[in-house]
Amino acid sequence: MFKSHKEMYAANRRRRVLIVDDEIMNRELLKLILEDEYEVITAPDGETALDTVRKYDGGFSLILLDLLMPGMHGFKVIEKLKEDEAFRRIPIIVLTADAEAEVESLKLGAVDFITKPYPVREVIHARVKRIIELSEDTDIIRSTERDSLTGLYNREYFYRYCRQLDQLNNDADMDAIVLDAQHFRLINERYGKAYGDEVLRRIGWKVYEIVSESGGIACRREADTFLIYCPHLGNWQTLIDNVYAGLSDGGASISRVRLRMGIYANVDKGIELERRFDRAKMAADTVRGNYMSSCALYDKALHEREIYEEKLLEDFHDAIDNHQFMVYYQPKFDIRPSVPRLASAEALVRWVHPELGFISPGQFIPLFEENGLIQRLDLYVWREASSMIADWKKRLGVCVPVSVNVSRVDMHDPNLAQTFETLLEEYGLTPDELLLEITESAYTQDSAQIISNVNRLRDLGFRIEMDDFGTGYSSLSMISTLPIDALKMDMTFIRNAFRDGGDMRLIEMIIDIADYLSVPVIAEGVETEEQMKTLKRMGCDLVQGYFFSKPVPAAEYESFLKLKA
Ligand code: C2E
Ligand code: CA
Ligand code: CA
Repeated sequence: MFKSHKEMYAANRRRRVLIVDDEIMNRELLKLILEDEYEVITAPDGETALDTVRKYDGGFSLILLDLLMPGMHGFKVIEKLKEDEAFRRIPIIVLTADAEAEVESLKLGAVDFITKPYPVREVIHARVKRIIELSEDTDIIRSTERDSLTGLYNREYFYRYCRQLDQLNNDADMDAIVLDAQHFRLINERYGKAYGDEVLRRIGWKVYEIVSESGGIACRREADTFLIYCPHLGNWQTLIDNVYAGLSDGGASISRVRLRMGIYANVDKGIELERRFDRAKMAADTVRGNYMSSCALYDKALHEREIYEEKLLEDFHDAIDNHQFMVYYQPKFDIRPSVPRLASAEALVRWVHPELGFISPGQFIPLFEENGLIQRLDLYVWREASSMIADWKKRLGVCVPVSVNVSRVDMHDPNLAQTFETLLEEYGLTPDELLLEITESAYTQDSAQIISNVNRLRDLGFRIEMDDFGTGYSSLSMISTLPIDALKMDMTFIRNAFRDGGDMRLIEMIIDIADYLSVPVIAEGVETEEQMKTLKRMGCDLVQGYFFSKPVPAAEYESFLKLKA
């Protein structure tokens, strides 16, 4: 039978206590005293204690720890436990015959100590009870358990309760589900924050109602993402339909919200909780922009994708060390003169993997952005590009700027401007030789750090091209206050405009915005002469795309430079 969350927290729930002592007599004695009220687990040494804590995923209300043990000393056990985010909060009572050790134990983070020989049963009982109560209270005070907007658990508590659900219902099949509102930022921007909050609150309520019925739990993670952990459901579409129904209860406009849901069904309890929700999120990401179906399951294909991505992550550092990343260059032409003129090139990275072969950046850039590796890769690419510019200047006597991509992750780095300054010094370049492409969606995050980085780069003399323009939902007021030097229209606009029945209005609008900002427009993904000529007529300034050239290795790109020399 499945225990509900409420039952779990019933007053008479048996809390689990770990006793660590190398002397069997001591262990048994304490166990005898405590086991009428607690579920008692024992360990004869430090190593076993740590293994036990891990095995139960930190599910202990208290640890009673002897200090003097063969092998690992009690202090070391405390240290190890405190190092681990998941175990740090478990209160520890030290068992010792040595009054001196008290201070050191408290310093390391034990909360209390009991001296040997042991006091009477009642004293031990009272101490244990009090420490557990105090620790549970402070936990509650320290981090409010619930998200104030929706009343759902916050993330930290959610994971903790998930662990407890697992412990208490070890054999139940569970689903990990991620539910989010697509383009929520846009809703906030268009209808205001109060409206956005109302939408989230309604989603939250409905989610709560649904999971409570099924015996699951839910939380709100980040602005518009909800996590659900519940006994295996058969029909997820019903869940999402119910949330929709809750949204349209009062006010039809709310039904504009698009939800999507990713499900990792019948989770493998052998893998970490966070990872289970990563899998659900992977599934949710596959429905991006797909309006027909809004639910997706974590399946075999995604599992293979996960394994592939793990390999890429694993191989990353070797790849950097062994120069497996290659930088290709794609020329951008100024189409305003009667004969198009080479204006610059974009540096685009490729991975030539010794086993997997040629991998295009679409496969690994988003992955590295998520996993904190992109900064290292970007720096590598910036260096490569800088050294090529220096080399071309020296060997061919030509200087054509190269633009490099600056990931949104880099934009949060307070040392970004410094990094570029050092780069210029290192390769003897001036800031007008290295253009920076920053994707529009990085700006949309609207953080002070990003704006200050852009300003500092501009102050250093760098020119900035806003990449993928038209996909990032930044408002006109925002872009007009931001310093940018060119708009790079996202290629989907070209794709859509030039297919059958497509229309040019969006391109016209973008060109208008660029005019208003007095910056040139770059069109990328231009594949045919017809496209190039039409864009030229419409007032587009620069063009990049297969029509002129695919991205090519440095040596091949040199032929464009030589024409200039
Ligand atoms: P992006 O910055 O929008 O780059 C333009 C992409 O369009 C490139 O794809 C380029 O090969 C492709 N492209 C250019 N002309 C045409 C065309 O006429 N037709 C078509 N169908 N495609 C064209 P690529 O090289 O696969 O790069 C994909 C994305 O990966 C880039 O999009 C960029 O966001 C990212 N990326 C590439 N290199 C780097 C890098 O060094 N650092 C970072 N942070 N991101 C990079
Ligand atoms: Ca780019
Ligand atoms: Ca782009």
